[in-house]
Amino acid sequence: MPTRSVSIEDYNFHLEDFIAEERFNRIKAFAADKALPCLVIDLDVIRGKYQELKKSLPFATIYYAVKANPHDEVLALLRDLGSCFDVASRYELDQLLRLGISPERISYGNTIKKAKDVAYFYEKGVRLYATDSMTDLNMISDAAPGSRVFFRLLTEGLGADWPLSKKFGCHPDLVRQLVKAAVRFGLVPYGISFHPGSQQRDVGQWSSALTSAGQLFHSIREEIHVELKMVNMGGGFPANYLEPTDSVAEYAEGIKRFLDNSFKDLWPEQIIVEPGRSMAGDSGIIVSEIVNIAKKSVHERYTWVFLDVGKFSGLIETLGEAIKYPIYFEGSGQAVETIIAGPTCDSMDILYEKCTYKMPRSAKIGDRVYIFTTGAYTQSYSSVCFNGFPPIAAYILK
Ligand SMILES: *Cc1c(COP(=O)(O)O)cnc(C)c1O
Repeated sequence: MPTRSVSIEDYNFHLEDFIAEERFNRIKAFAADKALPCLVIDLDVIRGKYQELKKSLPFATIYYAVKANPHDEVLALLRDLGSCFDVASRYELDQLLRLGISPERISYGNTIKKAKDVAYFYEKGVRLYATDSMTDLNMISDAAPGSRVFFRLLTEGLGADWPLSKKFGCHPDLVRQLVKAAVRFGLVPYGISFHPGSQQRDVGQWSSALTSAGQLFHSIREEIHVELKMVNMGGGFPANYLEPTDSVAEYAEGIKRFLDNSFKDLWPEQIIVEPGRSMAGDSGIIVSEIVNIAKKSVHERYTWVFLDVGKFSGLIETLGEAIKYPIYFEGSGQAVETIIAGPTCDSMDILYEKCTYKMPRSAKIGDRVYIFTTGAYTQSYSSVCFNGFPPIAAYILK
């Protein structure tokens, strides 16, 4: 019997918190003839998110984190809105170049890269690189001479649903060493970056990171006589999952205050944000079908609901039940407490068992189920053909 850590009342939700009825009806009609499961992406939502962030942080340059949703039409929309792009591999770079995005609008933000890939980025015209180690910096200096580099700070990711901590970034002590080395190598030490953790619920996490960044700006100016010019505040802005967060406008208010505190007399020439989840998350709805509804024993309290979508078809962020997608079952009647699982022959393909999702009693095999806020980190995480299931198909809502 699984253990319950959350009361079911916490996971009741109202459809209107996630979607207007009119838009929901449009999406249902659009998906009516599609093979399931599929992801439907509404570009109007992404346009709105971009404009909202631009308005909330008018001084910031937006580098969209391509990995969140690399659909061609998503990237083309952001291209036309004037966004820049943060990429992690030569494949993402090729895609952006194919879409006519110029290399000046692209940063190579992955700190884990092969020398031949750095050379490839350089050859294609990219001149902005993230780094967090001496070996990587050496590689950039060999393969991308004279480029601008920014130094990623280690953060703890506390307060984030999907932390991204530990693997990336380095301690301020090492940043100082890297800045000195960059000068020696003839690179341009350009700025400091951090990522506060994805779906970061605590705006205070930007405060501590910006404090460190501000201190580094000062100490690097005093001790190394280098004027850094850029602060990159990463992603971390929220999408609308089951547990509510502050609005992007409220995040922006806090962040402006922290910037003022940390950069009083040394305001950076450029401020960058790299939103992925907050740009794309709310734009997507996965339309799924109930494959089976069953109990494991005669008296079991929980009903198992098997969907045609699971951890291997895009919902990997349910690992540890970290991301709690709003799941909408149609039907009526008493609420049934469920354990929700995917369709594959892997026993880790269970979406939620600790946190109870409720399903109306009338729900039955073959019914459609709608999983909201699945526009980010879903299709790009979908496995190739585990158990023969193809990666989840995505459609742009027309
Ligand atoms: C993944 C990633 C982002 C996007 O983060 P979100 O929390 O999805 O907005 C931004 N910057 C870097 C370097 C990343 O790796």
